[in-house]
Amino acid sequence: MPARLFDDSQYEWSKPVASHWEASRPPGSAVDAPALSGDADADVAIIGGGYCGLSAAYHLACAGIDARVVEAGHIGWGASGRAGGFCCVGASFLGPSELRAVHGEEETVAFYRALADAVRTVERLIAEEALDVEAQGDGVWTFAHKKSRLKELEDHVVVAERAGFAAEVVTPEAFTVRAFACGEQFGALHEKIGFGLNPLAYCQGLARAAQRRGAQLYARSRVLAWQRGDGGHRLVTAAGSLRARRVIVAGNGYLPEELVPELHGRTLPIISNIVTTRPLTADEVAAQGWKTRSPASNTRAHLSYLRLLPDNRLLFGGRGDTTGKPADGAAMRALLERRLGALFPAWKNVETAHFWRGFIAATARLTPALGELPDDPSISYAFGCHGNGIAFMTWAGRMLAEGILGRQPVMPAPIRGLPPRFPLPATRIWQLRALIAGAYVQDALL
Ligand SMILES: Cc1cc2nc3c(=O)[nH]c(=O)nc-3n(C[C@H](O)[C@H](O)[C@H](O)COP(=O)(O)OP(=O)(O)OC[C@H]3O[C@@H](n4cnc5c(N)ncnc54)[C@H](O)[C@@H]3O)c2cc1C
Repeated sequence: MPARLFDDSQYEWSKPVASHWEASRPPGSAVDAPALSGDADADVAIIGGGYCGLSAAYHLACAGIDARVVEAGHIGWGASGRAGGFCCVGASFLGPSELRAVHGEEETVAFYRALADAVRTVERLIAEEALDVEAQGDGVWTFAHKKSRLKELEDHVVVAERAGFAAEVVTPEAFTVRAFACGEQFGALHEKIGFGLNPLAYCQGLARAAQRRGAQLYARSRVLAWQRGDGGHRLVTAAGSLRARRVIVAGNGYLPEELVPELHGRTLPIISNIVTTRPLTADEVAAQGWKTRSPASNTRAHLSYLRLLPDNRLLFGGRGDTTGKPADGAAMRALLERRLGALFPAWKNVETAHFWRGFIAATARLTPALGELPDDPSISYAFGCHGNGIAFMTWAGRMLAEGILGRQPVMPAPIRGLPPRFPLPATRIWQLRALIAGAYVQDALL
């Protein structure tokens, strides 16, 4: 088994996640899902109970397919229960001009159409399945941390219009009037698609919807071995096994690489970290001139993402830490608190109540990947949504289901086919360190 890239404390499936979301869900919200025991059979076995696996299970079950999810922790244990709650267009580390340079104009626009369709997929699921996700805000903000970054925001407006959703760039004054006062902004992009939600509530709601449609979910059932042969698959857990004609690998940043040699080395897990403050008083909210309930992030390579939650807590996140060790987590929390204070001086000394983190996944081509393995189309995969998976991974699960159902999934060039392996995969942490160092230089110079 290849050595894990991060500290073992990041893979403690039996431990509860110390997030604001877990702490604030009402009693009885956890999804009732047994551990797999004994030998079971299914049409489709799905590894991973996050948005991707649950959405695939939901859409397959809606079509009458016996789909079963095996999840190592509780349902929503992974990134899906830990996210910031930005349900928005995104999923690549490349901007429109970089995508155009690699894939051309039409495929770039097709990719953005898919990203918008992903947000609408979540909206449709919320409406049709009556999911209570604490939706907030109207659109999503990206504010420029330097004047020079406005150009790329304007580029988003052009591609958004072609992809069928509205976006505009506003002046720094207009941003302050419509959103909030902030120590570092030079104008902003407002995409009029997307919103904030409670990611754990959405994940649990999606899981229950999948169960209502007939999907079977197994929690606390880590797949330890995968036997292939005789035209089928057998996933083995500590207490049982699941045989299936087809398998979907939906592990993203927690991808069990040791089980899927074809996918080994093709993702770079990155830690994303979040703090939430105590609820701010009305006077404190007013002190930063806060008017928006829409999620916002800045243009830094070391980005900050933030939103004011329904109970007036500020959620503030950022990526970093290349060990995953608890002591480096404490340092990351302190860094986020410093960044929060720098952007919002009135809240400099407001204490944070929760800190948590989890894995997102990047690919070497900087765009996500979904499809079927070229040498074994009975195995489907989706990974690498670059920290933007609420909408995208819900959509990816739907597309994988479409493929299994024999329909034609939408597959624009940026997400098509397997991305290359990272060179010398065992050195990915060092490559990540180099990327992080490069991001400091980029933020200072560009
Ligand atoms: C702190 C943080 C903030 C984020 N904020 C946002 C945001 O605001 N907006 C947004 O769009 N995205 C956000 N993301 C990214 C988003 O959460 C992910 O892209 C998305 O949840 C990925 O969904 P998934 O189903 O592909 O993977 P996951 O939700 O990570 O699910 C994968 C699952 O596979 C399971 N697994 C792994 N190995 C095995 C095995 N051997 N057997 C059984 N199960 C296994 C894991 O336990 C895990 O639960 C954030 C992520 C983090 C960590």
